[in-house]
Amino acid sequence: MRDDAELTTRSWSPSETEFPNDARRDMAGGDENPPRREFKARGSFVERCDGCRLPVLNCLCPFRVTATSAAHVWLLTHPYEHNKPTNTGRLIADVLPQTQTFTWYRTAPEARLLELLADRRYVPYVVFPDDQPDYQHRVVDERAVVVAKQDGFIPVFILIDGTWRQARRIFRKSPYLENLPVLPLHTDRLTRYRLRKPASASHLCTAEVAAELLRNTGDVSAANVLDDYFDAFNESYAASRFYHKIEKPNAAMQRLLERRAFGAAFS
Ligand SMILES: [Zn+2]
Repeated sequence: MRDDAELTTRSWSPSETEFPNDARRDMAGGDENPPRREFKARGSFVERCDGCRLPVLNCLCPFRVTATSAAHVWLLTHPYEHNKPTNTGRLIADVLPQTQTFTWYRTAPEARLLELLADRRYVPYVVFPDDQPDYQHRVVDERAVVVAKQDGFIPVFILIDGTWRQARRIFRKSPYLENLPVLPLHTDRLTRYRLRKPASASHLCTAEVAAELLRNTGDVSAANVLDDYFDAFNESYAASRFYHKIEKPNAAMQRLLERRAFGAAFS
């Protein structure tokens, strides 16, 4: 994925990582077809929880909480991403129940997505780096999101969930995204994601991108909860790879447990 790395900006790439078969699949034009068999990868022999799909050794379910946010998230997920247990887009949907998840198909967008894009209650933004000249006229910053809220609209972050190569393709080849404003994320945050190896530490995974956008646009509580849930996921999954059972919840896990015990009033 060397060519991908060259295209990324200092602040963010939608790539959670590189998946070794992507290039071959892209060349084969296989994007339109969802995978026909269950995803097999390192650790696929491990017993997984039906609820969270993590290895049962450190199941995430006890830490699952919800939060509310003024801004919504719609995930536009590459078909290959759905079956990956290391996918973090699904963490957003766990924490923010109003999240919508769509599977991306180049030739046939989901009808529900088109309906929502036409719904005037929402102001959707495609979250994507602003490093290419041909769509600069569409680029906005986070102030636009705040203004949309003040005007009584529901801002929506459309997050393209896939590798960088997939995300670039989705961004370029989806006519229904062509007229939407483009919202780049500029942040100094370095990724804490430990389950896939990014080309650069500045490449945040999907859940981290959502948390940063929420935080930067005023949904601080939701951002903090999502970050805690992401950290719990990250730590639980990483420990399981070494067959290590987490005996003592870390600080993020503790906060999630308290939130579960005391409800959303605690944040
Ligand atoms: Zn579980």
